[in-house]
Amino acid sequence: MARPCRVLEPLRCEITQDYKAGVHNGIDLVGPGYTLAWEIAHSDGVVVATRNDCNWFENGSYGNYVKVRHDNGYYTLYAHGAYNTVQVSVGQRVKRGQRLMYMGNTGMSYGGHLHWEVRTPNDTRIDPTPYLDADLPNSGPNKEVNVYYQVKTERDGWLPVVKNLEDYAGWAGSPIINVALRVDKGSVWYQVHIKEQKDDEGNVIVKGRWLGKVTGCDINDYYNGYAGNDKNPIDAIRIYYNTPSDIRPFKKAKYRVNNYPYVYDTEPCSNGDDFAGEYGVDATELRVTIE
Ligand SMILES: [Zn+2]
Repeated sequence: MARPCRVLEPLRCEITQDYKAGVHNGIDLVGPGYTLAWEIAHSDGVVVATRNDCNWFENGSYGNYVKVRHDNGYYTLYAHGAYNTVQVSVGQRVKRGQRLMYMGNTGMSYGGHLHWEVRTPNDTRIDPTPYLDADLPNSGPNKEVNVYYQVKTERDGWLPVVKNLEDYAGWAGSPIINVALRVDKGSVWYQVHIKEQKDDEGNVIVKGRWLGKVTGCDINDYYNGYAGNDKNPIDAIRIYYNTPSDIRPFKKAKYRVNNYPYVYDTEPCSNGDDFAGEYGVDATELRVTIE
């Protein structure tokens, strides 16, 4: 009997061989009425392994396969796909329902089918049957946190908003004077350090100092909408992410200034600083992600 199923494109499948711990560490599936079908991602995730070049029987082998790490840390693995039909590559982000590979008969297989596995975050194979038409354990809502940020330079004004590590905020070595930043889940505070400036005689004309912490993101709000005094170049930044109670494990802000190493939240990094940047050096590039 065909049953609801999230890993084949018709969204229905038949089980041709059940899971048996240590003997058959997955389930074998075919489309409704014993048909071939496109194999699709069970849930959102990132492709971590593929094979696409197998066109024969191989004892003990998955043949062509795709392995995906999902956002809750669990893995799903799709095996015995048809030769040269893999649609994704390692490192690629996939959405639930996205095509991965066409069903085939490669590796240790005796007829077209999908051998489907579910693995825990430590790569232990478990019975996938309960998840054929259900979320993986501990999935809940999407727990990915996105950060959006932009900087202002004295020369160029406010620059475009950057999301996560898709780009950096900054432009052509121009000193950053303001930073505005927000997250789509949880909350952040952030603060910047003004670079010390001296005149030609060596007198300090702008004192190096940390400005107050900011929690808002509104470039029209001087007091709590961005960090910076709209005037002086900055040389360092601190960012702290507060993880909301429905997201565990805790996440951290990971950020860097220019090409200095990444730092995490306010923890001291390898050189003992709890900020990104270097006192006395203009910040010109900022990168931030929450992970
Ligand atoms: Zn199997």
